[in-house]
Amino acid sequence: MISDAMKEQVVKSSVIRQMFEEGNRLAQLYGAENVFDFSLGNPNVAAPDSINDSIVNIVKTTETTKLHGYMNNTGFPDVRVKIADIINKRFGTGYNETNICMCVGAAGGMNVILKAIINPGDEVLVMAPFFGEYRGYVSNAGAKLVVVPPNPPTFRPDVELFAKHITEKTKAVIINTPNNPTGVIYSEEDIKNIAAVLDEKKKEYGTDIALISDEPYRELAYEGAQVPFIPDHYDDTFVCYSYSKSLSLPGERIGYILVSDKMKHAGDVMTALSVATRILGFVNAPSLMQLVVAENAEAEVNIEAYDKNRKALYDGLTKLGFECVYPEGAFYLFVKSPIEDEKDFCEIAKRENILLVPGGAFGCPGYVRIAYCVAYDTIINSMEGFEKIAKSLGLNA
Ligand code: PLP
Repeated sequence: MISDAMKEQVVKSSVIRQMFEEGNRLAQLYGAENVFDFSLGNPNVAAPDSINDSIVNIVKTTETTKLHGYMNNTGFPDVRVKIADIINKRFGTGYNETNICMCVGAAGGMNVILKAIINPGDEVLVMAPFFGEYRGYVSNAGAKLVVVPPNPPTFRPDVELFAKHITEKTKAVIINTPNNPTGVIYSEEDIKNIAAVLDEKKKEYGTDIALISDEPYRELAYEGAQVPFIPDHYDDTFVCYSYSKSLSLPGERIGYILVSDKMKHAGDVMTALSVATRILGFVNAPSLMQLVVAENAEAEVNIEAYDKNRKALYDGLTKLGFECVYPEGAFYLFVKSPIEDEKDFCEIAKRENILLVPGGAFGCPGYVRIAYCVAYDTIINSMEGFEKIAKSLGLNA
């Protein structure tokens, strides 16, 4: 019954999910408090109280045909106006509802964008390490994923290497900053350099190249770190924004795609996004959640909790002799495996009930990802296990 392509996808299916299931199994065996599950990027910080208040209020006060009905495939016009206004206030732009397409989280948004722009055989470029689910999104669209090798230890874009991977077939480049899995935020200079390469390559090949900025972590930037606004630097940019992490609403599946007027054929592109939303079967983003995020578009989660975790984890692990880049954003730490095969290192960690994700899942073997969107106590209590591992592997513990 199952297609050959899907059989292959099932076999390769997300290592992260498998780890999550392993966490549940270990929690049943040893008790949840004795398992240090750093596998999944599921926010542990609560959504702002105003979210639940809005849900109740909207359900009580909105005409039910509006609340539960079909709508324009790009979403409620008043919601899109509100979101455009907030972007304008933050970034000094002049957008309106025609620039916004509501989407089903960043995952839905990425699939819609790729569906709208990819021809069979086109190439989509990512820089390793990258969010592993892109593999599925890119193959859904019939494109080929081209991976630019990682640039350790900083994991900033190596622009020369990036340029070498662009060909006549490159239709899109996906960037993700703040980054999952490294926590690195690309600087304005990084973005300008990427944009300059793309402009040059478009001219050289006479092609269109889209820059897709996947931004679920935009609001998770610590100590005032600035996250550049990509459409300021490159005209053919899609911003794919999500409220999954910024408002701790991953199960609600809500986000938006921003298309700047400066994009080539912007109006037609927006129509294509609208049709792609319909034919992929989303039809529109969830109606109640559209209204909720419009009311809460300036609400914030308590990112101090993540910041506290970030510092405790980074300080704890580096004192034990582990090497990693200090994350400026998101809620992940990307740690160099002290032994060659990071999968073996994950197995060693599992003996201490510590669950980590191998870097191969992100196209970057030799590293592991630790998701620190967990209780502070989980981090503190895991240190004993990390110390044992450090000693057994001869680090400076
Ligand atoms: N992109 C990145 C980089 C992510 O880390 C995630 C989720 O972890 C997603 C996209 C998907 O997010 P959403 O829940 O908005 O679909």
